[in-house]
Amino acid sequence: MELASPQQTAVTAEPAAALRLCVLASGSSGNCTVVFNDATAIMIDAGLSARETARRLDAVGLSLDRISGILISHEHGDHIAGLRVLHQKHGIPCYANHGTAEAIARNQALSGVDIHLFSTGFAFEVGGFSIEPFSVPHDAYEPVGFVISTPASRIGVVTDMGVATGVIRSRLAECRVIVVEANHDEGMLMDAERPWALKQRIRGRQGHLSNQAAAQLIGDVAGPHLKRVYLAHLSEDCNRAHLAEREVRTHLDKRGWSHVEVAMTYPDRISDVWG
Ligand SMILES: [Zn+2]
Ligand SMILES: [Zn+2]
Repeated sequence: MELASPQQTAVTAEPAAALRLCVLASGSSGNCTVVFNDATAIMIDAGLSARETARRLDAVGLSLDRISGILISHEHGDHIAGLRVLHQKHGIPCYANHGTAEAIARNQALSGVDIHLFSTGFAFEVGGFSIEPFSVPHDAYEPVGFVISTPASRIGVVTDMGVATGVIRSRLAECRVIVVEANHDEGMLMDAERPWALKQRIRGRQGHLSNQAAAQLIGDVAGPHLKRVYLAHLSEDCNRAHLAEREVRTHLDKRGWSHVEVAMTYPDRISDVWG
């Protein structure tokens, strides 16, 4: 008599759905990123009009009524241009720290936007996501980057920073996916037809990160855990996608992290979707 082949009776618990990400828009004309799984979807920044946000969400199978909240990194227009309509017309809750909320309250065009306050450096939850806001150096009231995590996954999003501080490095370490600013090529910025004072502001400690500095930061936080990096907030005048990509790719390869994918982001279209 043959023994019946053992049945696979063990039912393993469904792993918590991993996080997915798409950069809907990136650059000085508007920034917006969505992080989502089957249960929850949140946006980081709202730099597109509500109509354009809806159009790009649709391309990744999402809609505005799925968005549980908008996390605001800082009050610059390229990060909040769509905020009022998304909040007031579509009822999406907004989250910001005290400094950013104050700056928004002073802006008449944003009157009536009701903000849920968080404290920089302290984690909070939106839907099923844990959010860790951390301080970044930039010429705004109280700018932050974010780590968004579930027990299954950890994603870091940080743009608009003059220098990569120790805090930024420690928060991005152990992320599976990161979105990092690669704003300008240092040579192109110096050659650009721009006032000297503006160039100094961009290059300063409260300005924006160059390709070279981004490559250094990404190389420092990379490891077996890191699967993909998105390069974000590229300057239209002072950068080119192939320069940013080559700088970061070369640096990652040199440091032994050839497995890390380098993905681009765009002002006028969505990025590849992670997850
Ligand atoms: Zn900014
Ligand atoms: Zn910006």
